[in-house]
Amino acid sequence: MSTLLHNAFVFRGADQPALPDGAILIDGSKITWIGPMSALPAEAALAHRVDLGGQVVIPGLINTHAHGGLSTHRGCCDEGDLFEWAAALAPHTSHLTIEDNRRGCTLAVLEMLRNGITTACDCTRFGAGVFSEVATGLGMRSLGGALANSPELRPTGRPNWPLALEETRAALARNASNPLARFYLGAHSPYSCTPDLLLEVKQAADDLGLPFVIHAAENRRETEMIEARYGKSPIRWLADLGVLDANSILAHCVWLNEADIQILARSGASVAHNPASNAKLASGVAPVPAMRAAGISVGLGTDSTLSNNSLDLFQEMKLSVLMQRIHTLDGTVMGAGDAFRMATSEGAKVLGWADEIGQLAPGFQADLVVLDLRHPLGLTPGRVLSDIVYRIGPREVRAVMVAGEMILEDGAFTRIDALQVEMEIYDHYGNIPEG
Ligand SMILES: [Zn+2]
Repeated sequence: MSTLLHNAFVFRGADQPALPDGAILIDGSKITWIGPMSALPAEAALAHRVDLGGQVVIPGLINTHAHGGLSTHRGCCDEGDLFEWAAALAPHTSHLTIEDNRRGCTLAVLEMLRNGITTACDCTRFGAGVFSEVATGLGMRSLGGALANSPELRPTGRPNWPLALEETRAALARNASNPLARFYLGAHSPYSCTPDLLLEVKQAADDLGLPFVIHAAENRRETEMIEARYGKSPIRWLADLGVLDANSILAHCVWLNEADIQILARSGASVAHNPASNAKLASGVAPVPAMRAAGISVGLGTDSTLSNNSLDLFQEMKLSVLMQRIHTLDGTVMGAGDAFRMATSEGAKVLGWADEIGQLAPGFQADLVVLDLRHPLGLTPGRVLSDIVYRIGPREVRAVMVAGEMILEDGAFTRIDALQVEMEIYDHYGNIPEG
């Protein structure tokens, strides 16, 4: 039986007309029709009707960069720049087990869904399939995988290659018929991977037809390190090595010069922009307007609960605009429409998933968020967009649907007792002293 969501203010982005008295017809996992209530097609007569009471419906938010497995250690290291922070957290996180990873991923998926995130690209060191397993179980969509690193360049923790490849192959086999889970193969960064490892991981990704994920040009010291090691910027180094193409997803890209932006644009690679993490780790302000002007797709990411510390794309949307304005002193450098696009359709493009998600349109997956929005002057498309980017947060998220299934309804999960699951995780660790 199909479902008709009606009495909704459907907001699809600044570039598409809003539907103040809108309706969405859903059959199975897909949207089959969307339009004004006045133009309802005949087949809607048989559908199960859900009255949304005038609430706002937007596409599910897409988190293009996360490390869910670390969510057990939220806020354990809040000070220092990227390298100081990484050194401080290593003793806490380098010996985590797969079961720790699973508990962290559970906390992360619950938090993301509560915050209206319906798809996330997750990174881990061990357990390439764990995030997707947890996400699938809770009904969320994911692009999961692990980032390989070279033990000689990143001595903390155990080596994870070719284990990451074996784990990813196994996850692909287990999820062959799972439409909610896709996978990638990744390498941690140009500074913690040897050229041989970067080439090996990229080749394996190509052989399996998977995206390739890497952190790049995140911190100024990283660019100096790569410059000293190879005589090139991180982006030119990766491009010359041959690991950048349309299947490459680069997290951060803060320290880019004009030539790097042109190289990235020509390669077809896309970028996961993490404004809160970049600010917290004193990394800098990524040249997002210049990247997008050059044709590079840029999505938004939360990064981890150690570098952010909330998994909230509403905050990232707001920060993505504010950071550009404070950096350029130009109040028109980026607007709410840009931020919303990066959190939805452009984020889907970054993940190579734009054929199915990121938009509310016939043929697309029914991944959507219901927001309880009011405005003293009444809802208009402009006020809805303004509220979404500059004012609201998870507290306005009333319902979340993924692949046509309501995962969260009236603020409560439909599949599980989330509070109990969270209490079990807290009980498992008991009270671990700080430090
Ligand atoms: Zn990261």
